Amino acid sequence: MTSTLATRSSTDPTLARAWTVLESVPDPEIPVVSIRELGILRDVRRAADGTLEVVITPTYSGCPAMSQIAEDIGHALNAAQLTPHRIETVLAPAWTTDWIDANAREKLRAYGIAPPTGRCAEGNSSGNANPQQTVIRFVPRAPATPACPRCGSTHTERLAQFGSTACKALYRCIDCREPFDYFKPY
Ligand SMILES: [Zn+2]
Repeated sequence: MTSTLATRSSTDPTLARAWTVLESVPDPEIPVVSIRELGILRDVRRAADGTLEVVITPTYSGCPAMSQIAEDIGHALNAAQLTPHRIETVLAPAWTTDWIDANAREKLRAYGIAPPTGRCAEGNSSGNANPQQTVIRFVPRAPATPACPRCGSTHTERLAQFGSTACKALYRCIDCREPFDYFKPY
């Protein structure tokens, strides 16, 4: 089966509208950032039968937020009368924190979550939403200490491997004494 790989540059007004609608769908766990900014939303395209296909990649397998995200996408598209649609979950290439765009990193920090430091992979960090074009090359990751999202100090210590969710670790700033969540890079 062939499906057109129309992307954001598409002149199809329905696809353009779908992108706009989906870019405003927030992450259920971190509502200050959208699923697009986190890199969860990979593509919006039209299948051969005309159905809108929304391609998403889970932040990690078994992430409990994914069913909520799929539900939110469905609601947003229904509200905009963008039907019929379906959601395709793509597991490869695996999501990496490298896909979180610069804007979203700043929002995470403002929200009190230290954004991931360092880089896990090279090759698809430009916000390119076409998974077919992805080439991931793993690079050595320097052990990094996250900076405190409140005071910016790198004088921080890890309290627990898991924070408020499994994808975050709990840290504490030694200077301002505030505990904070660190979005673990992977
Ligand atoms: Zn601090």
